[in-house]
Amino acid sequence: MTLYDKFGRQITDLRISVTDRCNFRCVYCRSADPENYHEHDEILSWPELERLAHIFVGLGIRKVRITGGEPLVRDGVEKFIRYLDGIGVRDLSMTTNGHLLAERCDKLLEAGLHRINISLDSLDPIKFEKITRTRSYDTVMRGIDAAQATRFSPVKVNAVLVRGFNEDEVEAFAAFARERGLIMRFIEFMPLDADRHWSRELMVPAVEVYERIHAQWPLVQIPHEKSETAKKYRFADGAPGEIGLIAPVTQAFCGHCSRVRLTADGKLRTCLFSKEDRDLRALLRADASDEEIVEWVRAVVNEKEEGHRINEPGFVPPSRTMVFIGG
Ligand code: SAM
Repeated sequence: MTLYDKFGRQITDLRISVTDRCNFRCVYCRSADPENYHEHDEILSWPELERLAHIFVGLGIRKVRITGGEPLVRDGVEKFIRYLDGIGVRDLSMTTNGHLLAERCDKLLEAGLHRINISLDSLDPIKFEKITRTRSYDTVMRGIDAAQATRFSPVKVNAVLVRGFNEDEVEAFAAFARERGLIMRFIEFMPLDADRHWSRELMVPAVEVYERIHAQWPLVQIPHEKSETAKKYRFADGAPGEIGLIAPVTQAFCGHCSRVRLTADGKLRTCLFSKEDRDLRALLRADASDEEIVEWVRAVVNEKEEGHRINEPGFVPPSRTMVFIGG
């Protein structure tokens, strides 16, 4: 079975947020003020997540990314990975801030995780502390080292650039990719922050990142799948490492979007910027049969938004912020 929306896009990727809790408070994502996390019983249980994952795989989902909040703060994530690997998910990855990675890397590998993305927004420990509001720089670096020493290598490292904060580190990040032989990806800042500080001026466009790196180390584009979020580049001088540019704001890729998202509290989101969540948890907990869930998912996916409209006049950011959606 396959899932299509009304614009003919096939949906093959599912991002599953397994928790809305996070041990970091990145300035471009969460507020410094305490946030209202969901109560534990509002979050989908592991058996509920397994049942839904099974249904989605039956509907043609081939790629699953586990995210959060911070996925490694929820006990049992390895068991869930084992389950997903066992039901034949072809591409199984996780996005983590890396804080708990060094100690969990082997377990994640054993469980069957295929790939890992680690978020790192500064190579300067002081700036790292300002951005994440933690002192975890060394721990995250150990997490990257641990992952690079396994078959997770080359790991993807994701940085969100915010002008005035870390935009001056573009070349340093590129050098980091070359030295470590890893995939350094730059993500444009999106209007999904809790404090609603996003503005176009604070966002560093991907083209600027490209020009700066290309001026120092010429880049050669690597072909990529249309539905992939990143434009990929290698270094022309043959150095190891790769650069990825993810430009959801300035070069939206909605036309080829193949993703839907399941939030930790069981809402299905057909776009990061959806105005509405669709309540799958309510259906699940009302004892719906698998067939009823399949029909519901098909109907919701059919209505997937054509695009995110960030660049249109009157754009209103979604009611949920990144930590509650799952990046
Ligand atoms: N805790 C994990 C982590 O740090 O990777 C997973 C969840 S986090 C919400 C997923 C990704 O979303 C991270 O790479 C983070 O940098 C990114 N993100 C969060 N807020 C963002 C924003 N306003 N714009 C762009 N990316 C954002």
